Order: sequence, then C-alpha cells, then structure tokens
Amino acid sequence: MDETEQALRDQIVAQCRALNASGLNQGTSGNISVRHGARMLISPSATPYDTMTPDMIASLALDDDSGAYDGPLRPSTEWRFHQKLLRERPDAGAIVHAHPAYCTALAIARKPIPACHYMIAAFGGADVRCAGYATYGSDALARLAVTAMADRTACLLANHGMIAIGATLAKAMWRAVELETIAMQYTLSLAHGGPVLLSDTQIADALGGFAHYGLQDATVSRS
Ligand code: 13P
Ligand code: ZN
Repeated sequence: MDETEQALRDQIVAQCRALNASGLNQGTSGNISVRHGARMLISPSATPYDTMTPDMIASLALDDDSGAYDGPLRPSTEWRFHQKLLRERPDAGAIVHAHPAYCTALAIARKPIPACHYMIAAFGGADVRCAGYATYGSDALARLAVTAMADRTACLLANHGMIAIGATLAKAMWRAVELETIAMQYTLSLAHGGPVLLSDTQIADALGGFAHYGLQDATVSRS
C-alpha cells in the first residue's frame, strides 16, 4: 500500500468519527468515500465509527459494477452511489453521506433548499435539490442521486439524508457542515413567515465569489 492510500484511509476514519462527534450523523448511519486513482476507498458497512480502523476501509474499482472489493469487511451498502458519483463527476475527489437532522427533515418532507441565504451558492446554484426516493443501497438510488446532483455539489435524498461532494475530503466535509447549517436556517425562517428568497442575479454574484472561496492551503507569503 502506498503512502497516499494509507493517508486517505486515515482521513476517512478521522472524518467518520468527526461526523458523529459534530452531531451531523448518528450511530452507524452515513458513509465516506475517497477517489484513489482508478479505485475508491470507502467506509465499511454498519461499523461503529469509534471501532473503525484504517485497515477496515474497503477498496473497489471504479469501473467494476459487480461490487467486488478488497478488505476484511463489506463496503458501505451505498457503494453504488459513491461509485457512480465518482465516475460521473471528475470534480469529485471525495463524497460524504449522512443523516443530519435538518437536512433529513426537509428530505422527509421532500423539499429542496431554496435560495434563502447566499451560502446556497456553495453548492453550485440557486438551490439544493431533493432526489426522489429509492431503497437505500439500490442502483435506482444511485441514478437519482447523480441526477439531483447535476451542476451541484450536494443534494438531499428523499426520506433518507444528504450527500455532499468535494475535490478533497476536507472540502466535502466543509460542505456537509454548511448544508446542515443552511437547512437549519431555512427551517427556522419558516417560523418567521418564510424566507425572502434571493434573486437569480444575487445568486449569480455569490456564485462568482465562490469560484475563489474555500479552504486555503496554509502557505507562507514571502515578499
Ligand atoms: P452503511 O453502514 O452500509 O454505510 O449504511 C449507512 C447508510 O447511511 C445507508 O444509507
Ligand atoms: Zn444513508
């Protein structure tokens, strides 16, 4: 195993634990994958995050639909949507799936998140769609997720939860936190008569800013 793969496995375990510690996720729900060349590394199914170790992470070929994997434990039941998204979205280096309370409550009501806050632009457009319902782990769910994610970096999954993608796992995790935050803010605004939505022009302005906004590398500037 090369150093990069070891580092990615360590990151998956650390971020799975962070998901639950932050309150974004509960129990053994949720899963994380990271692209590694022509393969994906993905958290194992139904494994408590506090007992998960890097050697338990499963490795699957991105071009193999059979579900064949390397590893001591079965991969997440959601390997199909992770695989399909990594295949169809070259911009995605990592995928985070969780069942956070506010995102999931909206997904249960099958409501998208509208342009209620400029941070909606962090997800690529004027809304975050809610994918239709399909059984967890199914190929149908994978297809619905890819469709709902068109031109976006996140979506809700009806009666289930959310997905966020990023060029890196750090970026995908950042989006997962921001998505739950805007879902909570939108939900709370409904108690105050509902949101005043931003216009397409206002969202376009925010989108321009997000082309340059994001996690920065800690480089020292020298003059
Ligand atoms: P896994 O434990 O198999 O990853 O499943 C959790 C989940 O959230 C399914 O949608
Ligand atoms: Zn799930």
